Amino acid sequence: MKIIDGKALATKMRVELKEKIEKSAIKPGLAVVIVGEDPASRIYVRNKIKACGEIGIQSFCYELPATSSQKEVEDLLDSLAVNPSVHGILLQLPLPKGFDSESAMSHIPVEKDVDGFSAENLGLLTLHKERVVACTPLGIMKMLESEGVDLCGKRAVVLGRSDTVGKPMAMLLLNANATVTICHSKTTDLKEICKTADILVSAIGKAKFVTADMVKEGAVVIDVGMNRDETGKLCGDVDFDAVKDKASLITPVPGGVGPMTITMLMYNTCITAFKE
Ligand code: NAP
Repeated sequence: MKIIDGKALATKMRVELKEKIEKSAIKPGLAVVIVGEDPASRIYVRNKIKACGEIGIQSFCYELPATSSQKEVEDLLDSLAVNPSVHGILLQLPLPKGFDSESAMSHIPVEKDVDGFSAENLGLLTLHKERVVACTPLGIMKMLESEGVDLCGKRAVVLGRSDTVGKPMAMLLLNANATVTICHSKTTDLKEICKTADILVSAIGKAKFVTADMVKEGAVVIDVGMNRDETGKLCGDVDFDAVKDKASLITPVPGGVGPMTITMLMYNTCITAFKE
């Protein structure tokens, strides 16, 4: 078993991005918009802003109160859409209750969609013409690539079908010629399906849901989940201690997928800034 060190890979990729930015005449700019006081979202935003500063991306942070109107949020996004210093716009999700996220997201032009959540970017991914891809699944692909995992002809199982993680993850694996099964809360025989996986990606948000008896000997196990265990400690979807001896490669939580997600946000900001 080998633990995939997402933190180390993220650090390496950030150094490469920093060098690229230093050599460029364009200073990439990322605007982050957060609505409301959700403490977890605030921490995510703070981490993103800090990471941008470290590699030379200019960040613009807008904190709006939960009492803001839908129009105020959308007007701000419209102004960022035409701001030439802003190459990427990130609207921190979820928005507080009562907001229409889909409508708000539609005010982010595709050229500045660094999350890859727009219908156009998701469509391009489906057509295997991907341009900007959702940060978490993209970071997972970079980790698999760095470990030399050959996906062609392998059986991949993705737990979770969210538009932001599960679906784009499945599409990337399919585009890499894996045979992909997506499981969700209505899936029957989930355990049997998981046991067929050469590559198992869990993105459901349930602490220690994936147990050793669900994992094939030698499988690659990627844990996207960010949960709290019974003692309040951060943990993934996978019962790491029990599964690690069966897996050939496994990501830890923390220190696995999380640091790569933020790095991919910066990677995507460079794509939109440099029009790659
Ligand atoms: P989400 O939108 O809540 O989607 C969860 C998915 O899991 C849904 O498709 C749901 O099925 C499925 N699911 C829930 N319970 C299940 C069960 N018992 N059996 C099978 N499937 C089940 O969550 P998300 O945004 O994709 O995030 C998933 C997890 O990843 C969360 O813990 C989140 O915090 C974490 N995350 C981490 C990062 C990172 O950078 N590390 C980034 C993003 C998300 P239905 O569709 O049928 O409801």
